[in-house]
Amino acid sequence: MTLTTSDSGLDLSQTEELVVVHDRSSGLGAAVAIDDTTLGPAIGGIRWRPYPDEETAIIEVRRLARVMTLKSAVAGIPSGGAKSVIFRPNPPGGEARASLIEAFGRVVRRLDGRYVPGLDMGTTLDDLRILSTQAPDICVLEPSDQTSVGVFAGISAAVEIRWGDGLADKRILIQGAGHVGSALATRLAQAGGAVTVADVDEERARAVADSVDGKVIPVREVVGHPCDVFAPCAVGRLVDHETVGVFNCEVIAGAANDVLTHRGTAKLLQDRGVDYVPDFLINSGGVIAIHAARAGWDPSRTSASIAEIGTRVGQVLLEARRSGRTPLEIAEQIASERVGRRVSVPD
Ligand code: NAD
Repeated sequence: MTLTTSDSGLDLSQTEELVVVHDRSSGLGAAVAIDDTTLGPAIGGIRWRPYPDEETAIIEVRRLARVMTLKSAVAGIPSGGAKSVIFRPNPPGGEARASLIEAFGRVVRRLDGRYVPGLDMGTTLDDLRILSTQAPDICVLEPSDQTSVGVFAGISAAVEIRWGDGLADKRILIQGAGHVGSALATRLAQAGGAVTVADVDEERARAVADSVDGKVIPVREVVGHPCDVFAPCAVGRLVDHETVGVFNCEVIAGAANDVLTHRGTAKLLQDRGVDYVPDFLINSGGVIAIHAARAGWDPSRTSASIAEIGTRVGQVLLEARRSGRTPLEIAEQIASERVGRRVSVPD
């Protein structure tokens, strides 16, 4: 689907800075969206994937940058939110790739420390190493394991609030058996959860399921498959006005960014009795790890900060029960108070 500016759901005047790059010598086409630096340098990964057109890429980068602002703010770290996309050319390998990353590194350098790039779909640690030859202060870190630690803490808290007990025998469906999903599967299984996995890469799904004595279902059956907890760890914009009535779970909590197609879907989920844990509230383990590495935190401080995700999820869900507001509204309010102006997910 091709999005247009009018249905992007973003108030486009709210991006702090948008840099669109067309570099003639390398052929690089890229955009960096710095959504907000009120709290500190803006952290956000570099996404490199094919897009139907430049406008679609720019809308996506702005949406994702906003989510990063919310994520850092709600996590209580002094960082802002940003994201970048490389929309041209499609990701090549070898030397061509290196020279494109170098060109992108020069863009990052010109942003003078206001943008802190990290990994996202389509980029690798090797890319970050190349970037660090062009721009100072690049954090070469693969944070997926820390992300899974935070998601696990958040799911545990949500389960405790929903059922008043632990993960033992809870049926958890994980969509996406990649970096975060596979580590999450291990943690959930160790806590006694019954894990089911779905991935477009069926071999990967099977390997992860086998490693945790779990099951595999086809990707097309994810929406509507009966489970207690649905953990999206693959793609975003999954829960919309149509699928909201088909999901057959009591909790939705996972690593994927931008899970709801519309803000209003959070209310529909609440009306159906589903506890939706906002993505930016539960998947901040990685961004905390990046901030911690840059700030020189010792490992115990980093672990404690990531474990706090569970506490925050519990507080937000309890407040939602008390107030009748959605967990999304409550998490946005926490972030807005920290940033000092209203920040909300794009609608
Ligand atoms: P990954 O690329 O390692 O894994 C994603 C997996 O999802 C892959 O195995 C892929 O085959 C599968 N997949 C893709 N489309 C699918 C579909 N339609 N149905 C089922 N499976 C599908 O990514 P990751 O690092 O594990 O991140 C997973 C999600 O979490 C992404 O949305 C990412 O933006 C988000 N996230 C990741 C981190 C992190 O630290 N890695 C932090 C915050 C948020």
